[in-house]
Amino acid sequence: MSQLLEGQTALILGLANKWSLAYAIAQAYRREGAQLLLTYQGERQRQTVEDLAAELGAKATFACDVTQDGDVDRLAEAVRGVVPSLDTLVHSIAFANRDDLARPFVETSRAGYLLAQDVSAYSLVAVARACAPLMTGGGSILTLSYLGAVRVVENYNVMGVAKAALEACVRYLASDLGPAGIRVNAISAGPVKTASARGIKDFSKVLEGVARLSPLRRNTDPAEVADAAVFLASGLGRGVTANVLYVDAGFQVMGLAH
Ligand code: NAP
Repeated sequence: MSQLLEGQTALILGLANKWSLAYAIAQAYRREGAQLLLTYQGERQRQTVEDLAAELGAKATFACDVTQDGDVDRLAEAVRGVVPSLDTLVHSIAFANRDDLARPFVETSRAGYLLAQDVSAYSLVAVARACAPLMTGGGSILTLSYLGAVRVVENYNVMGVAKAALEACVRYLASDLGPAGIRVNAISAGPVKTASARGIKDFSKVLEGVARLSPLRRNTDPAEVADAAVFLASGLGRGVTANVLYVDAGFQVMGLAH
């Protein structure tokens, strides 16, 4: 059977461990024949990501803290050093102070608000700007969002506001980069137990609620997010840009439920 991403090179940011959504995406991209490049935030994460990269057969790993402009510029240069061009960029990164995910949103500090926006939303703009010139034959940029961007989800708070900004960034980037044949989309994933998600107060209650109320009566499997990511990166997704694709067992359509 032919592979959907054969001949493609994909740069994936945000793979921390085997529970990361980026790990599931990397596995699916590899299955579909893509050559993988991975990043890690800093020295503390390097060995873990290098071990996973070896297991995934990735071509190279690079350090990149997305809050540092120098790191983002060096990433693009380093990628240019190992591959002639890039087809797919996956941005699977978010961060907010734990305190801000456990108290009323109205108590968010200026510093906490700006931190969440910087890491979780602006970083997509910075990385897209640095890497778009490598996408000489056009390509696909994908980020990960969540329902908290458009609905109030208790305790998601400042991260919901950052995801709203992220989804707006997707639309503006898609408009800017479309003439170069670069598509920009988000997948709004249902809740999945990952290291980031554990930082949200009462996250297990969110998982329970989704399993009980979503049209498919279950939670989202990371592999489902990864398969949608394959679709968006592949030729099958060639007409799709500026979109937020929900991969959430349908939970986003529910209003009141008994
Ligand atoms: P994860 O495994 O913890 O991934 C988050 C990644 O962000 C980690 O690799 C983390 O690196 C990285 N990161 C944070 N700050 C960074 C920085 N300054 N520079 C570079 N990397 C940085 O959790 P995940 O759930 O898979 O999250 C991936 C994406 O999916 C996020 O955008 C998240 O909001 C989104 N999402 C998650 C869910 C869910 O329920 N899990 C649902 C919808 C959307 P370190 O570990 O090295 O800090």
